[in-house]
Amino acid sequence: MNIEIINTGSELLLGRVLNTHQQWLCRRLADNGYETTRQVAISDNGEAIQAAVREAMDRARLVIVTGGLGPTSDDITRDKIAELLGCELHEDPGVVEHVRSFFTRRKRPMPASTRIQAMVPDGAEVIVNDHGTAPGLVMSFRDGGCLIMLPGPPRELRPMFAEKILPVIKERFPLGGGFACVTFKSTGVGESQMEELLQEPLGELVGRGLDLGFCARTGEVDVRVAARGEGAAELVGQAGEIVRRVAGRHLYGAEDDQLEEAVVALMIKKGATLALAESCTGGYLGHRITNVSGASAVLMCGMITYSNESKLRLLGVRAETLAEHGAVSEATVIEMARGARERTGADYALAVTGIAGPTGGTEAKPLGTVFIGLATAGGVGTVHRINSFDRETFKFVTAQQALELLRQEIVGSEG
Ligand code: ATP
Ligand code: MG
Repeated sequence: MNIEIINTGSELLLGRVLNTHQQWLCRRLADNGYETTRQVAISDNGEAIQAAVREAMDRARLVIVTGGLGPTSDDITRDKIAELLGCELHEDPGVVEHVRSFFTRRKRPMPASTRIQAMVPDGAEVIVNDHGTAPGLVMSFRDGGCLIMLPGPPRELRPMFAEKILPVIKERFPLGGGFACVTFKSTGVGESQMEELLQEPLGELVGRGLDLGFCARTGEVDVRVAARGEGAAELVGQAGEIVRRVAGRHLYGAEDDQLEEAVVALMIKKGATLALAESCTGGYLGHRITNVSGASAVLMCGMITYSNESKLRLLGVRAETLAEHGAVSEATVIEMARGARERTGADYALAVTGIAGPTGGTEAKPLGTVFIGLATAGGVGTVHRINSFDRETFKFVTAQQALELLRQEIVGSEG
């Protein structure tokens, strides 16, 4: 079955907004067994919209169009598609009421222009927007073709698609024979190393139709196993067991899980607390941990000890250590971690120090040099890495390594 996605929005073509809908929608579709065959981005221009939709309807049975459903003059998707399909528009009283109550709840006057969002093409199914005003619209074309219009803002489109549109797609286009798919998330191993680990043990299942894929992103590798047809769930289940057995040590979660979520969940389960002493990550570790709901049960304190003086005063790093080994050294990170743990009373303390660059590298300590320390009741463990990236990526990768050091410690201590 051919599926096409049309993302409208001049801002996409001016490079002002990243087309995240493309990636997000393709991912949700693929994880549910539907593969997108073509995707285009076009400007908010009537001719461009009609041409793209007409061409897509010629090739595909499912066409998804995003953006341009709002109340402003550049929002013309609904009108242009209705015109193309030869439909009149009518005002839907349910949508008028939804728009009105949306503004009443926010104690804001309802601008007259917003009422235009209640104009619905004849025959379209209206999908209520729980996070905004413009509804999604589902229309039929030719013999069983389906055209879906979705609002542009991601925080409206995503829940609408996941909760209300996917069920419509599954009902209209049932997958013959079944589909199963799991994505495992890993960190601490490279893509080829992961492939080497799994290729052989999964070889037999691949021979029986298992689709095995690897996706490397900065500091992480995803392992995706999928299968179609009868027995898909069993095949994917068996593959999952093998992946967990062979590579389980490196897996921190599945699907959309994030490493910081896994770490916070493990710490909550253990009832353990954490302190942070960050130099080169500048608070980024604390940021990631506090992105997780429930972090307050875990994070006791985070210090950004960027200067030597703050390392001395706040963490009790000794002046001799700094003078002899420098701020970026194993000796310093050990004292940072130990100091943070002792001074806060936390069960664990993570410390990081390094050279983010692009200046400051030396032959002995090249750009990207990082020392990470983890203090526990049993002492301080350290890792030494060279993370040669731009500053932002450097922070992400370093935080990833620090979180993984902590995760491995907790998982290991559980036996
Ligand atoms: P609104 O009522 O906000 O006008 P709309 O349905 O008319 O919604 P657009 O005007 O096309 O949608 O887009 C609204 C905003 O949503 C854009 O400014 C942009 O920030 C975001 N957006 C739209 N399309 C995309 C996309 N493909 N990827 C990421 N963000 C997008
Ligand atoms: Mg708009």
